[in-house]
Amino acid sequence: MIFSLSGTGVSDGIAIGHAHLFSSGELELPEYELEPGDVSIEVDRLHQSARRCKEELSRMERELGGERRDSAAELLQAHRMMVDDDMLLGEAARRIRGENINAEWALDRQAALLRREFQRIEDEYLALRIEDLDQVVRLMQRQLAEQPAGVLDDRVPHQLDETVVLADALSPAELAALHQRSVAGLVTEHGSIWSHAAIVARGLGIPMVVAVHRSQRLLREGEPLILDSHYGIVLATRDERLHGHYAEKMALFRRNRRNLQRVLGEPDRTADGERFRLFGNAEVTEEIERCRSSGAVGVGLMRTEFIFASKDMADEQAQFEVYRDAVDQLQGRPLTIRTLDAGGDKLPAEMQHLSGPNPALGLRGIRMSLAMRELFQVQLRAILRASAHGPVRILLPMLSRIDEIAQARELIALSREQVQRAGVQPDPEIEVGGMIETPAAALLTCEMAAQLDFISIGSNDLIQYVLAVDRQDELVSHLFDPASRPVIEMLSRIVRGARAAGRPAQICGELAGDPEYIPLLLGLGIGEFSMPPGQIAAIKAVLVRTHAGRCRERMAAFLQDPGAPDGRALLSQLATVRR
Ligand code: PEP
Ligand code: MG
Repeated sequence: MIFSLSGTGVSDGIAIGHAHLFSSGELELPEYELEPGDVSIEVDRLHQSARRCKEELSRMERELGGERRDSAAELLQAHRMMVDDDMLLGEAARRIRGENINAEWALDRQAALLRREFQRIEDEYLALRIEDLDQVVRLMQRQLAEQPAGVLDDRVPHQLDETVVLADALSPAELAALHQRSVAGLVTEHGSIWSHAAIVARGLGIPMVVAVHRSQRLLREGEPLILDSHYGIVLATRDERLHGHYAEKMALFRRNRRNLQRVLGEPDRTADGERFRLFGNAEVTEEIERCRSSGAVGVGLMRTEFIFASKDMADEQAQFEVYRDAVDQLQGRPLTIRTLDAGGDKLPAEMQHLSGPNPALGLRGIRMSLAMRELFQVQLRAILRASAHGPVRILLPMLSRIDEIAQARELIALSREQVQRAGVQPDPEIEVGGMIETPAAALLTCEMAAQLDFISIGSNDLIQYVLAVDRQDELVSHLFDPASRPVIEMLSRIVRGARAAGRPAQICGELAGDPEYIPLLLGLGIGEFSMPPGQIAAIKAVLVRTHAGRCRERMAAFLQDPGAPDGRALLSQLATVRR
C-alpha cells in the first residue's frame, strides 16, 4: 500500500528514511507580579537569558561547518541581532520596570505588540519577520525556563542520516541542529518557499517539503518514508520496488549534484571556445551571498522592490545600508541595482492608490520613478553612496521612451552632486543600464543602447507585452511561449540593436535560468546570462557542452525561413546541437 501526501517542495533532492515526529516541547510560561524589591533582579534575569541565547546561537553557527552553511549562518546571525533589538529586549525590560511583571510575561506582551504591528501590513516579507520574532522569543523563553534550545530533546536520535523529521514548523536554529545530526529530509506542516527554514534547507542542500498539512497526524513514528522535494511529495510505503526506484533516483541526483559543482571550476567557455558570463539575480538579500558562492561573476539583477516591503522608501540611510551590505558581500564583484520597479503586480502598500485601471500598462518602473522624483532621488543617492564601497551599476526598469534615459541621467547627476556635497565620493564612472522589456524599447534598442552603458533583456515582461499574455494569469499561461516566432524575432532584433551600438546583450528574465532555452539564446548571440543563483551550475553545465556556432547557424536558418516550426519543435531541434 502507498499512502501519499503532497506539499510544497522547497529544495531539490530525495530522502529515504524512517519518520521521526519532532516536537520542540511545550514551555510552561509563568506570569506573576513582582515584589517591588525584585524588579532589578528580574531585569537582570532577562538580560542573562538574552546573553545565553546569543551564546547558544553563536555556538550553533560555529558548529554548522561545511561550504554550504552561508544562508544558515546568516539567519543565525540575524536572530542573534534580533535578541538585542531595543524594540524587543529594551522594551521588555521597560515593561518589567513599568508594569512590575516577570520577564516571561513582559517578553510575551512585547512580542504580542510587535506581532500585531507587523500583521497590520499584509506582506510576505513581514510574515517572515513575524516568524523570526516568534523564533527568537521562543529561544529566549527557553533560556528563561532553563531549557536551552540548540540541545535537541533526548528523544531525537543522535544519527539522523536515515531519518525524515516531521515537524509542525522548524526554526533555523533547530534546523541547524538537525543538520549537525545529518538529517536525511524534513517535512513541516506549515511554511512556504520563502520561510527561513526553507531558505536554510536549500542552502544546506537538505530535501524538504513544507505545507504538508496534518502530516504529523497521518504519519506514524518509524514509518518508512520517501520524500521527493522536487515534486513536493511524501510517500509512506514499504513497497520494495518503489524504494529501489527512489534509491536509484537519489544516487543519480547526488552524482549530478557533484558533477554540477565540478563544472563550476571549468572555464566560462562554450564547447567551441566562446566566452560567456554568468550573473546571479537577487530577490532578497539572502540571495546575494548565494550568488557569490554559486560562482557568479557578479549580481546582474538586484530587484529592490522587496526593500520597500519592510522599509520606508524615504529612508535613505536604511536603503544605503542594504546596498552597502550587498556590495561588501560580493567582495569586488559588480552589483547591478535595479531602481524601483513598482507597479503592475509589485506595488508597495503606500502606492497602491497609484495603480491605474491597467497596472501593467500604467505608472510602472521608470515611469513611476520619474513621476515621484523626490523618492527616486532618495534611491539614487543611496545607490551612489554604496558605489563608494565597491563596484555598483544602476539598471533602469521598464524603459519605453528614449527621453526617459536622459531624464534619469539628469537626476543621477543631481543626486551625485548632493552626495558629494555631503562629503562622499561615489564612483565617478558608475555604469547606467536599461532593461529592454517593452516592445517599444526592443524596437529602439540601438538608439537606447547608445545612451546607456549596458542593456539587459527582461524576458518575463517582454514576452507578456509581445504576446499580449498576462504573465500572472493562469487562464492564458499556455499562450506564454518564449520559443514562439514573435518572441524570437523580437529577441533577435534586440541583440542586433545592442551589437550595432557596441554593447553586449545580457538577459536577466527567467529564460536565462532555464536550461531548455540556453541553445536558443546562445544561437541568437546572447553571451551574458543572469539568473537565480541556484540555477547557475545547471546553466553552466549546458553552456560548456553546447556549440555556440552551430546554435547560431540553426537560429539564422530559422529566422530566414518563415515556415520553420517554432515552439517545442524548435527547442527539440536545438537540444541536439551539442559538441
Ligand atoms: C523581467 O521582466 O524579465 C524581469 C527580469 O523583471 P521582473 O521579473 O522583475 O519584472
Ligand atoms: Mg520586468
